[in-house]
Amino acid sequence: NFFNGEVLAGLNASKVTITKAKSLKPIPAVEDLVFGNTMTDHMLVATFHPEHGWSAPEVKPYGPLELDPASSCFQYCPNVFEGMKAYLDPQGEPRLFRPELNMERMRRSVERVALPPFDTAELLKLIKLMVTLEKRWIPAKQGCALYIRPTVIGTRPALGVSASDHALLYIILSPMGPYFRTGPKPISLLGVHDAVRAWPGGTGGYKLGLNYAPGFQPQREAAKKGYMQVLWLFKEGNGLEGLKVTEAGAMNFFVVVSRDDGGMDVITPPLDGTILPGLTRDSCLSLLRAHSPASPSLPALASTPLHAHERTLTLADLVRYSNEGRLLEAFGVGTAVVVVSVGRIGYEEQGQGLRDITLREHEGGHGPVAKALWERIVEVQEGRQEWEGWS
Ligand code: PMP
Repeated sequence: NFFNGEVLAGLNASKVTITKAKSLKPIPAVEDLVFGNTMTDHMLVATFHPEHGWSAPEVKPYGPLELDPASSCFQYCPNVFEGMKAYLDPQGEPRLFRPELNMERMRRSVERVALPPFDTAELLKLIKLMVTLEKRWIPAKQGCALYIRPTVIGTRPALGVSASDHALLYIILSPMGPYFRTGPKPISLLGVHDAVRAWPGGTGGYKLGLNYAPGFQPQREAAKKGYMQVLWLFKEGNGLEGLKVTEAGAMNFFVVVSRDDGGMDVITPPLDGTILPGLTRDSCLSLLRAHSPASPSLPALASTPLHAHERTLTLADLVRYSNEGRLLEAFGVGTAVVVVSVGRIGYEEQGQGLRDITLREHEGGHGPVAKALWERIVEVQEGRQEWEGWS
């Protein structure tokens, strides 16, 4: 581990010490789980000190951290996290889904806020250790999983505005029930551009805590107007043409548009720095690109040619596709929800008040493309089907 010109101890999973909890918590029924509210029995912590490097990782009973109030995480927010899930396969063995991509994204996020680096292959070993240790917390039910939140925060105990040369890395885990208790239900989105989630050269392409708090007030305003989440727009020019669609809430965004040749275009905005490179987004694009009627990666759509595109999508495009009757589906994708359909998109056109783009309703809540992607990804995650070594 090389830091500020010095060679220091790197993060080393083989040095881990384990102190087990004296008594284990009762595990709630999956129906009673609220996302992110219940934590497992243990957590893992490791610290970075500028003279010694990374400490031996410690597994210990889940509990509060003790931090100096001057720690940079509370002041300047050099805070990085990841969101991933562990699933039980039909043999009852835990599986992770493409965790190398989370590790690589975390490495980039750590670098973006100049936190002390570490070998993410070692972190992945520690994550696997925690999942094995907390295996009884992985719900043995389709559509459920153990959510994993690896986090790194800057803990430099000083108020000077500079990069944190102290850090705390921890892993906490939280069991998740099905995202939608009563089956998939379309969500509503409000297009917002006066508050901006991310901008070119900013941090939207990294998973940093500081990207999220500024979204809470616009989210509250959207809720007051009757929309469930924000569709983040980036204003580059005048009118609806100038409003680029970026992300939906904390999800990547896709639309499905019918073509004259009987196929479908599936479009998501490109990774231009204003968009988090989601694993689910990447998985959807890979499955769509691998699909052909002769060799369908999405068997439910075997007879439909699908054309995946990463290209700029403006609000004017959405309105035009909708007016032409070609907007077949819109959906958000992310680790927590996997895929969720959008039923309605609100937007304001200057001087014309709030209007809605209304998408057609689909039986079971998901349109055909959203449903095919959801089914395929979940069956790979749960080890019921293999695909490209993803699970
Ligand atoms: N965008 C944002 C802003 C997010 O927080 C997330 C969740 N990590 C996503 C997109 C989806 O990314 P992933 O598929 O990797 O969960």
